[in-house]
Amino acid sequence: MLDYISDKVQDETRQGEAFAPFTVDPNQYKKLFYIESYGCQMNFSDSEIVASILNKEGFGATRNFEDADLVLLNTCSIREKAEQTVRKRLTEFKKLKNAKPGLLIGMLGCMAERLKSKLLEEEKLVDLVVGPDAYRTLPGLIIEAESGQKAVNVLLSRDETYADISPVRLDSNGITAFVSIMRGCNNMCSFCVVPFTRGRERSRDSVSIINECRDLFERGFREVTLLGQNVDSYYYQPLQAPQREGMAYTQGQLKENSESSQSEVSAKVAFPIGEGRDGAEIVTFPNLLEKVALISPLLRVRFSTSHPKDITDEVLHIMAKHENICKYIHLPVQSGSSRILQLMNRTYTREWYMAKVDRIREIIPDCGLSSDIIAGFCTEEDADHKDTLSIMEYSRYDMSYMFFYSERPGTLAERRYKDDVPLDVKKKRLQEIVDVQGKLSFVSNKNDIGKTFQVLIEGDSKRSNKDWMGRSSQNKVIVFPKENYQFKKGDYVTVRVNDCTQATLLGQIIIN
Ligand code: SAM
Ligand code: SF4
Repeated sequence: MLDYISDKVQDETRQGEAFAPFTVDPNQYKKLFYIESYGCQMNFSDSEIVASILNKEGFGATRNFEDADLVLLNTCSIREKAEQTVRKRLTEFKKLKNAKPGLLIGMLGCMAERLKSKLLEEEKLVDLVVGPDAYRTLPGLIIEAESGQKAVNVLLSRDETYADISPVRLDSNGITAFVSIMRGCNNMCSFCVVPFTRGRERSRDSVSIINECRDLFERGFREVTLLGQNVDSYYYQPLQAPQREGMAYTQGQLKENSESSQSEVSAKVAFPIGEGRDGAEIVTFPNLLEKVALISPLLRVRFSTSHPKDITDEVLHIMAKHENICKYIHLPVQSGSSRILQLMNRTYTREWYMAKVDRIREIIPDCGLSSDIIAGFCTEEDADHKDTLSIMEYSRYDMSYMFFYSERPGTLAERRYKDDVPLDVKKKRLQEIVDVQGKLSFVSNKNDIGKTFQVLIEGDSKRSNKDWMGRSSQNKVIVFPKENYQFKKGDYVTVRVNDCTQATLLGQIIIN
């Protein structure tokens, strides 16, 4: 079952992943850097921005930290365990630092932001502490650190989106890429540290997003995933865009439907939706999604993450309209109990969420659905936990990222509620959640036996180079024999499913 968790929680399998070297001869670089990334996909994406900034300064990437002049850890604070992993990793670099006194060690990302200069006291090894909005200042900070000073920049920004920085795609399969469309989060879910470590929500210039996606397509990429903590609230007005005011609702202000979120947006700007202060076009998420989809029918478009309160019918209709927008939504529920959802400040109820699932299935009947679930949040009782299990059954998730609650310093929950569910109870409930998800994934996969799917080939399967691995529009992994066909990575191929495991569909190429 643990295998199953790590199979399903893709982020977990990539924790601590290091970049491969640039394809060009690293000897042309004056120095080498090594970067390990932890946490969510946004962090992995940020590491590519950091790589691009360092690359311009004459740093080449190495996958071997012993060769590096600069070791960077791009960190995550979402759960205590994530921070512990990084601290443990730092002690492993100690020996290297002793043997190589000029070596610089830097801490980037959410942990840097959360702990700020305290990190320098706690972790004597660290020379640089750089928050997620300060990566442009890395070159200057490195010079400072080289002169023996400790260098810190953890300033959060209201407008930094790194829009003009073209990320260096390292360790890429050359077919699928992540494109960051916004940063920060205004939601204030009570358990979550992200609004404190990544700052206010801001949307990236839509033109730069479309250009990046088009450039990826022209370079042979065939799938882009638009990334943000809350992509459905993307909102960009060219030229001095007035960013949306905070969309965090207080407890009790449960939104009754997604249209009201939309009108809330228009209430916060002094001109009609669709037109900006100077008449420039305002780009909302459905507009952006359609613009990216129109780049080419051969470019698949995905997006993540959707907060249930913000995904509108308009988004669902755009998804249904364009075949190349993948029929898959990551719609984290967190809990199935309305009482717990209110304490979590999620701004929807159990019934509201279930109605949203119904709406998705009505507009996009073949849509894949996944979720994030937290077991053992403050005051959770057995009845609340049962509500979570039953909402999973109702939603029929194809997969879920599943966690037990970890109290984070400074969050609303830490300040307001007692972390009163004992660890063994949290773990027991999490295991029950994992078991239900295992069963749902297996049933969902079995239902696909006999069906055909258009699959984008991403590369060889992990187990054998005689098999291809790709994904269906619904984001399910499909493995199938290459046989004697001359397909290659990046091709679309029709595959009929004839068997499955809990995590993978197994199929065969069908030539019409
Ligand atoms: N913005 C996304 C959303 O709202 O769905 C995801 C943000 S977070 C990086 C990913 C997931 O981590 C959350 O959906 C939640 O399930 C989990 N998470 C966040 N804080 C947590 C905490 N304190 N303890 C356990 N899980 C947590
Ligand atoms: Fe955290 Fe909630 Fe924002 Fe997601 S939407 S990043 S869970 S505060």
